Amino acid sequence: MLAASKHAQDAKKYSKIFYEFSSSFAAKIMIPVSEAIKIIKRETFSLRTETIDLSESVGRVLAGEISADMDLPPFDRSQMDGFAAKAEDTKGAPIKLKIVGESVAGKGFDKKVKHGEAVRIMTGARVPNGADAVQKVENTCKFDAGFIEILETAKTKQNIIKRAEEIKKGEKIFSKGEIITENMIASIASFGYAKVQVSGKPKVAILATGSEIVDVAEKPAKDQIRNSNSIMLAVFAQIAGAEVEVLPIVKDEMTNLKSQITNAVEKSDVLIITGGVSVGDYDFTKPALRELGAEICFERVSLKPGKPTVFAKLNDKLVFGLPGNPVSVAVTFYLFVRTALLQMQGARNLELKKGFAVATEKIKGAKERDSFLPVSVETNAEGNLIIESLRFSGSSNFIAFSRANALAFVPQGKTFERGEVIQITFLP
Ligand code: AMP
Ligand code: MG
Repeated sequence: MLAASKHAQDAKKYSKIFYEFSSSFAAKIMIPVSEAIKIIKRETFSLRTETIDLSESVGRVLAGEISADMDLPPFDRSQMDGFAAKAEDTKGAPIKLKIVGESVAGKGFDKKVKHGEAVRIMTGARVPNGADAVQKVENTCKFDAGFIEILETAKTKQNIIKRAEEIKKGEKIFSKGEIITENMIASIASFGYAKVQVSGKPKVAILATGSEIVDVAEKPAKDQIRNSNSIMLAVFAQIAGAEVEVLPIVKDEMTNLKSQITNAVEKSDVLIITGGVSVGDYDFTKPALRELGAEICFERVSLKPGKPTVFAKLNDKLVFGLPGNPVSVAVTFYLFVRTALLQMQGARNLELKKGFAVATEKIKGAKERDSFLPVSVETNAEGNLIIESLRFSGSSNFIAFSRANALAFVPQGKTFERGEVIQITFLP
């Protein structure tokens, strides 16, 4: 027993040493996507919480649980317009019952229903004491003044939702870490949460680099292209819950780049830089981060597209350096940056939903890297999810990417033939 526990302790200690050892090397070597995600999760901090109006809360992460402050329904509720009575009184239907009152939504019938009696009842109203069934109005017939004829036998509990059948007072409905969706609003409102406690929004700064990059509103001159990355990242980050500031484009020039990075890190939780992360003569992102004293956590990922992705910490803030090609930017945002933004907000599910789809054509992976290739998937007439088409012809082709709805995972060196099943990640 003792030996076993010592063994377990040693194993824990050595795995920690190995982990620290391996992560110090992670910066230099090419690491798998899963390892990169692990490092990001380890380095990401949590944000403070805040209380906001429920109407403003869609997309925010719950910082506390939502529970029922009352039974629902709060009383035995009629599901139909009709007559409430004792089920056993309707056995010999058609049968005549005396109408003794009415129960409407907002004002129930407070006396007890006795044998031979019925109460006119409306949808949503309280079923009176003594009644245990509601016969809908279509199965009744006006008899004469003060009487109703029940045309069909009613079973006990027919058309009644019992008190607390939907939820009991005190029961949990939503947990901390769930992202509030539009479909959750009515439930949250029903239990009195006019305001909800959520995580604060991560402050994200976006910095596009490249001497060839001009603003979207400009007409590019010879050798120039428009800055499509910043606005794309701004939209992605906002959808992931962030408050975004897009910074002015920075040319491939060290001094200005360094001062922009310093400014950005000061006022944000996360800085996303695009471009300049490779090993070209004018790729200054990594040198600038190093000169500023950033800790580079990794800088090469076994990923196509997105191999030269950089993840660093500077003054305790997170910095992502994404390769400039728009498709690489999108893929690396979804795999890495989104994970960090959601973790900061305390979200439970940090990664995009995965699934499987059948290849309808040959899909070839990269020799030395795992590929996450943009594809469009759809359900065919047989009910199978199929990869309708590959939406990837290189990391610069964002027009193909714009019709993708998933990423197909192709492990290093693997080729999938038509008919094979491929793991996919659904895009938001
Ligand atoms: P880089 O990572 O700087 O080598 O850039 C790779 C490719 O992405 C180049 O063709 C760039 O022109 C392009 N690119 C870089 N930044 C942007 C941007 N902000 N918007 C659109 N394309 C970009
Ligand atoms: Mg560049």
